[in-house]
Amino acid sequence: MARLVLKFGGTSVADLDRIRNVAQHVKREYDAGNEIAVVVSAMSGKTNELVGWAKDASPMHDAREYDAVVSSGEQVTAGLLAIALQNIGIPARSWLGWQIPIHTDDTHGAARIKSIDSDNLNERFKEKQVAVIAGFQGISENGRITTLGRGGSDTSAVAIAAAIGADRCDIYTDVDGVYTTDPRIVKQASRMNKISYEEMLELASLGAKVLQTRSVEMAMNYNVPVMVRSSFDDPSKKLETGTLVCREENIVEQQIVAGIAYSKDESKISIRNVSDVPGIVAGIFGPLADANINVDMIVQNISTDGKFANVTFTTPTSDLPRALETLEAIKDSLGKPEIVSASNVTKISIVGVGMRSHAGVAAKMFKILSDRSINILAITTSEIKLSVLIDAEYTELALRALHSAYGLDAEEA
Ligand code: ADP
Ligand code: ASP
Ligand code: MG
Repeated sequence: MARLVLKFGGTSVADLDRIRNVAQHVKREYDAGNEIAVVVSAMSGKTNELVGWAKDASPMHDAREYDAVVSSGEQVTAGLLAIALQNIGIPARSWLGWQIPIHTDDTHGAARIKSIDSDNLNERFKEKQVAVIAGFQGISENGRITTLGRGGSDTSAVAIAAAIGADRCDIYTDVDGVYTTDPRIVKQASRMNKISYEEMLELASLGAKVLQTRSVEMAMNYNVPVMVRSSFDDPSKKLETGTLVCREENIVEQQIVAGIAYSKDESKISIRNVSDVPGIVAGIFGPLADANINVDMIVQNISTDGKFANVTFTTPTSDLPRALETLEAIKDSLGKPEIVSASNVTKISIVGVGMRSHAGVAAKMFKILSDRSINILAITTSEIKLSVLIDAEYTELALRALHSAYGLDAEEA
């Protein structure tokens, strides 16, 4: 007998038929004698629709009311799955974030889980009842509903698994595991049997949306084994394929580059011809930090006479309008430089713990891109990742070329 958290994403609960299919997956694990808590997302597309409504109602909406609106999709699927389970003879009850309760801070729209009360859930296990929990939501100290940021049901699931000491957290989605890159873009992508928390954390934060970044962070901190698997596999059969996200030492075969991620959510801002005097970079990035704007890649070039600099950096596209506003406000103090921005860029990142101990990984990336005449606009590195910014139109070409150059293509595509 094991204690398991099973999480089902949007496409897995997209309609009543898919919800009935999920109920069969739950039944298989329940009938095997396991203690089960289930976490569900909203039906696919629902949260986008709710976000759209909140924005249409007012672009400057109150963040607390935004959360009241966008958290509602998960309430529907939790209730429907509990009904579907009861229909096939499995005792089940739905739970909203506040009913557990799942305590969060009050950063509406991107709240962090502070603690989870496990008493209610432990009671359900004693009664052999399945708890069906609405993902993505919690309750703040002020008693208001909060949401955990897009894709946050993954984090709900891992946090619950940590709180109840689950043996494993199974993330059911529309692909049968974590691939070397997004299998919807690169057909030759191959599924990994295992991936380390560190690598998964980098891939997630660099754009691989199969797991929300915070869920991986939490799994790593609390040592929760996470299994990514497909809800589209036959629910009557014991699932055999999937990817286990676990500690590095549990992985025998390590590739130098484990996977490649891409993100189209970045924008590039260039500030041209600022006087190159000490303090100028601080003068730019200080006010951006004060305005809570995330800055990722930074490149600075100096003119041949050493008098002027061009500073280029990237920021999430959602922060772009505020970044431009902030720069506009300090433009005079920078000597009125030209400020230009572009959103048609993609960040491509290669990730692998093997990069710590192997030379030449970066040189290879630059060569592959240059052979295809793809211009690199900016670069950042860390111990286990290397990211380059390129024009968005070359995204697929670059992904495919790098994927094959690092030996990641599946044998049979
Ligand atoms: P869910 O609704 O179940 O939470 P998501 O859409 O959030 O599912 O995540 C699954 C999607 O992640 C897949 O359909 C796939 O296109 C995408 N994806 C991106 N990178 C990867 C990767 N490296 N491995 C697997 N899937 C990936
Ligand atoms: N429904 C939420 C979203 O679409 C949370 C999730 O699916 O994980 O972002
Ligand atoms: Mg998701």
